[in-house]
Amino acid sequence: MTPKRPPTHETFSLFDNEERVLLGAESMLHQLEQFSGGVKELAAAYRKSYAEHRRLLRISDRLQLDLHKANQSLAAQAAELKRLNAALEEEVALRQQLAEELRLIATIDGLTGFYTRRHILELAAIEEKRQRHLDEPVSLALLDLDHFKQINDNYGHAAGDEVLRCFAANCRKVCRETDLIGRFGGEEFLILFPQTELETAQSVIETLRHYIAEHPVTFDGQVITVSASIGVTALQSSDISLEHAISRADRALYCAKHQGRNRIEIFT
Ligand code: GH3
Ligand code: MG
Ligand code: MG
Repeated sequence: MTPKRPPTHETFSLFDNEERVLLGAESMLHQLEQFSGGVKELAAAYRKSYAEHRRLLRISDRLQLDLHKANQSLAAQAAELKRLNAALEEEVALRQQLAEELRLIATIDGLTGFYTRRHILELAAIEEKRQRHLDEPVSLALLDLDHFKQINDNYGHAAGDEVLRCFAANCRKVCRETDLIGRFGGEEFLILFPQTELETAQSVIETLRHYIAEHPVTFDGQVITVSASIGVTALQSSDISLEHAISRADRALYCAKHQGRNRIEIFT
């Protein structure tokens, strides 16, 4: 609205003045209406934003609660996982220990500490391959304690066990570190002499036979004489298998028994 020119003393009239006051009042009323409309809108917008704020707060609260619960469950799962991990580690350690014990049982004889029959045969097979490949001499001996049943019968089984232990200790004293000794049966032993000519093996075996006979075992105050019969042979290139050489040593051992025991027989 274009403002009216202010009246001069020539144009001034009382009605004009009233008119101007009225117009001013209407304008103020109009502005006030506009202002109150703005206030209403502001209040509505504020209410809306407040409602939205509360809605967001509720969502945030719920999310925090969910997060808290998820955190708790995660912590419980982590604790369970830790427990399971510890149990698993314990189980793995136990299995490793059992595997080691099984390996020992399969390879080492508990009474004498010599290799088991199965393991000495595995080692003998390796030696046989080496011998064939490198053309190295390998000798072997089968050894059986004499009248061992009588020792058990006369002095008891525990005495028999002690005789076997002492025999093993004597073997270790006389044989060389490179010689491989296995318990082939109850009181029967296989000795493998890698890279050893028959004559050398024979000499070691002879020393061993003497040593055993000259060192009786004392058990429970009783002196038990021990002797062994031994069959010796060498692995030959004509041997189709290792068993061939072992059976040759076995036949030599059989001869030694029949020749009167406490002796060595060689099968060439
Ligand atoms: P030979 O001179 O002909 O070899 O007679 P031997 O009595 O030694 O042989 P035989 O085969 O008749 O008896 C062997 C005995 O060895 C029978 C068995 O009870 C005993 N024996 C086997 N293993 C063990 C053991 O680990 N401990 C004890 N104490 N005795 C055993
Ligand atoms: Mg015997
Ligand atoms: Mg026997």
